[in-house]
Amino acid sequence: STVAELIRNSNTPSFSFELLPPLKGNSISKVFNTIDKLKEFNPLYINITSHRDEVVYKPNADGVNIPHVYRKRPGTVAVAASIQHQYKIPVVPHMICSGFTQSETEYALIDLNFLGIHDLLLLRGDNSDRHNFVKPDEPGNKYAIDLIHQVNNLNKGQFLDGTFMEPFETPFSYGVAGYPEKHEEAASLEEDILRLKQKADAGAEYIITQMFFDNSKFFDFVKKCREAGITIPIVPGLKPINYLSQIKVLPDIFKTEFPEALTTELQKCTSNAEVAKVGTEWAAHQAKELMNHGFNLIHFYTMMATNCVYDIAKKIY
Ligand code: FAD
Repeated sequence: STVAELIRNSNTPSFSFELLPPLKGNSISKVFNTIDKLKEFNPLYINITSHRDEVVYKPNADGVNIPHVYRKRPGTVAVAASIQHQYKIPVVPHMICSGFTQSETEYALIDLNFLGIHDLLLLRGDNSDRHNFVKPDEPGNKYAIDLIHQVNNLNKGQFLDGTFMEPFETPFSYGVAGYPEKHEEAASLEEDILRLKQKADAGAEYIITQMFFDNSKFFDFVKKCREAGITIPIVPGLKPINYLSQIKVLPDIFKTEFPEALTTELQKCTSNAEVAKVGTEWAAHQAKELMNHGFNLIHFYTMMATNCVYDIAKKIY
């Protein structure tokens, strides 16, 4: 079955988690270590993130700074294939617009089809301004909805060069991202939800949310989505806080608010270990409450927090 079907049918407590491909040049063993640690809880599926190019300026012989484009974390497709092969757990590679031309995306989709991977999470990527430095003459996708259209076209057998083929035996099935506290660029939550509805209407089968620390924000978001006519499953995304530094950076980067009670607890912490304890308890409490409200499936952001996710899973599953 597709991951979307697994999500629709998840009527007992279950979880999924997200992994990053290793930094360029590193071994995949770190990825496998995380899965080895968490697999006893039978994850429903595993997401693998995708990362855009970054530009680095280096002086040439005349001392003029020249932009060089590098991708620090390539390998999303290969990591997904390798996990699927090794663990037989369904994988969901992310596809993003930023930093990728449409033809690069098409090649990746063709590879995924050959590898038997047909579940995707379609996203815009962290910055829409790809044309600043990535192959400005080649067409790319601007918003997640554009990427959805590209995948839908391919599902019909239509390639970018105008070639029409028999559609793939298994079409791609995909989810998208949602933001309980609104995406930072959206003028309002209502407008953001309208954009989200467009993604659902275009074919997205489920939504995974950005991390949040206040369940009431999530419940409110789900209510508003339902009122707006979005009927697909909405999977809550949780992140256990486990570093002192995250107290400041997480709200900044992910535009999410810490509830006062959490802030108060975190401010008492003087070490990462103390933060991890507070963060783990908070996320476990969130997960339990979400489950009590019928959200059986929780998605965890494991980045640098595998042990916390393990402790939470141990309490819950
Ligand atoms: P979109 O749906 O394209 O929306 C972006 C903004 O544009 C929103 O404000 C929306 O309201 C607005 N908008 C949408 N469509 C239109 C339109 N047609 N016209 C005008 N405005 C529009 N980033 C990565 O780089 N790699 C990852 O692997 C990754 N994984 C993620 C996983 C999850 C579960 C989540 C929640 C986020 C992830 N991100 C990842 C971050 C994500 O790429 C960013 O949050 C990005 O800024 C927005 O992506 P999106 O797909 O929600 O964008």
